[in-house]
Amino acid sequence: MTMANKKQEVPAAQIIDGKAVAKKLRESIKRHVEVLIEDHKILPGLAVVLVGDDPASAIYVNNKEKAAKEVGMRGFVHRLPQNTSQDEILKLIAQLNADKKVHGILVQMPLPKQIDSATILKTIDPAKDVDGLHIENMGRLMADLPGLVPCTPMGCIVLMKTIQQNLTGLHAVVIGRSHLVGKPVGQLLLRENCTVTTCHSRTPNIAHIAREADILVVAVGKPKLVKADWVKPGAIVIDVGINRTDEGKIVGDVDFDAVSKVAGYITPVPGGVGPMTIACLLGNTVAAACRQNELTVPHIG
Ligand code: NAD
Repeated sequence: MTMANKKQEVPAAQIIDGKAVAKKLRESIKRHVEVLIEDHKILPGLAVVLVGDDPASAIYVNNKEKAAKEVGMRGFVHRLPQNTSQDEILKLIAQLNADKKVHGILVQMPLPKQIDSATILKTIDPAKDVDGLHIENMGRLMADLPGLVPCTPMGCIVLMKTIQQNLTGLHAVVIGRSHLVGKPVGQLLLRENCTVTTCHSRTPNIAHIAREADILVVAVGKPKLVKADWVKPGAIVIDVGINRTDEGKIVGDVDFDAVSKVAGYITPVPGGVGPMTIACLLGNTVAAACRQNELTVPHIG
C-alpha cells in the first residue's frame, strides 16, 4: 500500500473522567468543611426541599443528602406531600432563610403543578441560593460580581480546566440556551476569555457552527444529536444531556462512539458532567457558609 491511499489513523479521544474529578473535588470540600468546623466553629448546613413523589427527584435528593453528610456537612431534608400548597412551601422557605444553621437551600425541581416555581425561587435568600437560580445570582453572574453560580455549568468549567487550565482565546460553542445550563455556561466561558457562540432550537446549520468549536458544550436533551461530522478534530466535547433510551439506558446528547473518534477529549454519560453537579452544590454550600460569616471564600475546583 502506498502512503497516498493509506487511511489516516485518527486517535481516539481521551475520556474526561467526571467521577474521578468529582471525587477529588469532594475530598477538597471535606477539608474546607473541617477547617470551618475546627477553626471557626461553623458546621455548614444544606437544606433540601422535596415536594411530591417523583421517583427521579427522590433519588436526586437522597444523593444530595448522602453527599452532604459524606463531606461532614449537616443535611436537612424536608419531604412534603404532592398536595402541599404554595403558601406552605413559602412558609418553610421563610423559616430556612431565618435559620442560622442552614447556609444553603435547594428546592428540588420540578415542583407539582399547583406551585409556581419562579415565585419559590425568588423567595430563597440569594445568599443561601446554592443552586444559583435566584435572579440576583443570575444578575451577579452577568455583571461579573461574586455570587452563587449554577452547579452544572460550574462543573463543566472545572472539567474543561482539567484538560487545559487557560481557556483564553478558544472558541466555545454552546448548544442550548436554558437558564439552568446553556446561558450560565456561556457566561462562565466568557469569564474564561473564550469567544462564545450560543446555538439553540432555532439556529440554522448548527453542524457548521459546531465544527468551528475548540470547546463544544451540548445541553439539549436529545440523544445522539451531535454527530462526528459536527466536531472539529481534537476538540473538547462536554456532553451535559441525560436521556433515557427505550431500552432504559442513560445516554447523553452526543453520539459518543462516533464523536470519540474525532474529538480530542470527551465526557461520557453517565460518569461525566453528572457527578460534578452534586460536588459543585457542596462547593456552593461552603462558599455560602463562608460569605455568611464574612470569611474568605476558598477556591474549590
Ligand atoms: P431545556 O429543555 O431547558 O433546554 C434545552 C435547550 O436545547 C433549549 O435552549 C433549546 O433551545 C435547545 N434545543 C432544543 N432542541 C434543539 C435542537 N434540535 N438543536 C439545538 N438546540 C435545541 O434543558 P436543560 O435543563 O438545559 O437540560 C438539557 C439537558 O441536560 C437535559 O438532557 C437534562 O436532563 C440535562 N441536564 C443534566 C444535568 C447534569 O447534572 N448532568 C443538569 C441539568 C440538565
